[in-house]
Amino acid sequence: MTHPIQPKIHIIGAGWAGLSAAIHASLHGWQVVLYEAAHHAGGRARASEQYGQTYDNGQHLLLGAYTDTLALLDTLGVPIDEVLERHPLHLCDARGQGLRLPRAGKWGAVVQAIVNNQRWNARDRLSMLSWLTSLGLWRLAHQVLLTLTGKSWDVSVSKICALASPRVRRDLVEPLCLAALNTPSHEASGAVFVRVLVDAFSNAPQSCDFLLPRVNLSRLLVTPALEWLKVRGASLHFGKRIQALSELPRLAHEPVIVATSAWQAAHLTQDTHPDWSARAQGLSHYPIATLYVSGKAPPPLSHNPDPVVMLESSVQAPAQFAILTPFKSRHGDDQATVWALVVSDSRGHEREALIVQVLAQAEHDLGLNSPQLESCIIEKRATFAPLVGQARPPMRVGPGLWACGDYVDGPYPSTLEGAVRSGRAVVEALKH
Ligand SMILES: Cc1cc2nc3c(=O)[nH]c(=O)nc-3n(C[C@H](O)[C@H](O)[C@H](O)COP(=O)(O)OP(=O)(O)OC[C@H]3O[C@@H](n4cnc5c(N)ncnc54)[C@H](O)[C@@H]3O)c2cc1C
Repeated sequence: MTHPIQPKIHIIGAGWAGLSAAIHASLHGWQVVLYEAAHHAGGRARASEQYGQTYDNGQHLLLGAYTDTLALLDTLGVPIDEVLERHPLHLCDARGQGLRLPRAGKWGAVVQAIVNNQRWNARDRLSMLSWLTSLGLWRLAHQVLLTLTGKSWDVSVSKICALASPRVRRDLVEPLCLAALNTPSHEASGAVFVRVLVDAFSNAPQSCDFLLPRVNLSRLLVTPALEWLKVRGASLHFGKRIQALSELPRLAHEPVIVATSAWQAAHLTQDTHPDWSARAQGLSHYPIATLYVSGKAPPPLSHNPDPVVMLESSVQAPAQFAILTPFKSRHGDDQATVWALVVSDSRGHEREALIVQVLAQAEHDLGLNSPQLESCIIEKRATFAPLVGQARPPMRVGPGLWACGDYVDGPYPSTLEGAVRSGRAVVEALKH
């Protein structure tokens, strides 16, 4: 399928950003050469084999607002409705109480969800409405300042949310901030948080939908992407860690896209582009622990259809969310469901203590009978922390050298959508 006059492009890293860049480059007529250090693609978002059973390398949740990711799946011919299960936004506890967005008009749905929330009293509901208004005003002020001065202005999520009542902060702001940014609200960038909320609500209620993978992450996007690339003549090199940019077998005019994690990109560019490298190196990364737990639940949970449950978290009960997975139990019980209990920003937690505490949460909050541990995956550098006022490295590193990845300057935090968008954006920038 390749044409001899197609110009070559070299992409280092086959995570979701590298795969997105490779596919968009191929669509724009480049001949893709892709190098991946591991023997598999997908980076942080892929299937992972544990004890003879397949799980993901940490539980992932997608949103209806992930337009680039959905468009990429569409390009690959993936049947989206078969691989992703769509659920209206619900931020509810195991009893099904909390914020539940109905399928009504945009703001009507939001107001209805607030009014119907049984966990909140009148003061909480009013505080939620005034908080939403203040977010809108804050965003407007931010945009005006950016237009007038060209400078971005940032404060922490806690400060932006100071108007919200303690219950609204506990039920909504803290969990949303942890889920979206993997960073506690007193450290996290308000500008990034507001941007995510605006995007999520831009086409509400559909854009807020939870999209739950029905298959593992490799089957969802990674394998279809590799097959698509192979058919289009891309050269794929696995088990090939690039130690230095100078070792790439390329002609001087052929561009290179570094699509690795931030710390690997910092390492690869430290000698040639020290300023860019220092910015990438300066980002902090926080861990996420995913504990896959199986068991059977008696009513009421077995009658509660919510696939995402907000847990009452505390220091002793560290998991904030439970998400129903499509995985089978490795303990041989076909009736058991496998839940992923997620500890966002799991800094300071010891693995063994986490297992004991999270199993107790699965029993107490989810009502699982004698829950069993399927697998405990702690990804130490899961996502970069979008801290207040932090400057991220740009996509252009230097002449002929570009970067993409979930950490590269862009509107999104460290997410699948951030990675996929970055892969598209870098190829579009290359055209000019
Ligand atoms: C546990 C966990 C839970 C998450 N939950 C969510 C979620 O619910 N929703 C969501 O949207 N996002 C979530 N994320 C974030 C999401 O997974 C990442 O943002 C995304 O996968 C990053 O993709 P990437 O391509 O930028 O980087 P990576 O996935 O890190 O890919 C980089 C690739 O480059 C390769 N590489 C590195 N160095 C070299 C080298 N020198 N030579 C060749 N190859 C190299 C690596 O092996 C890797 O394959 C989660 C992440 C984790 C870890």
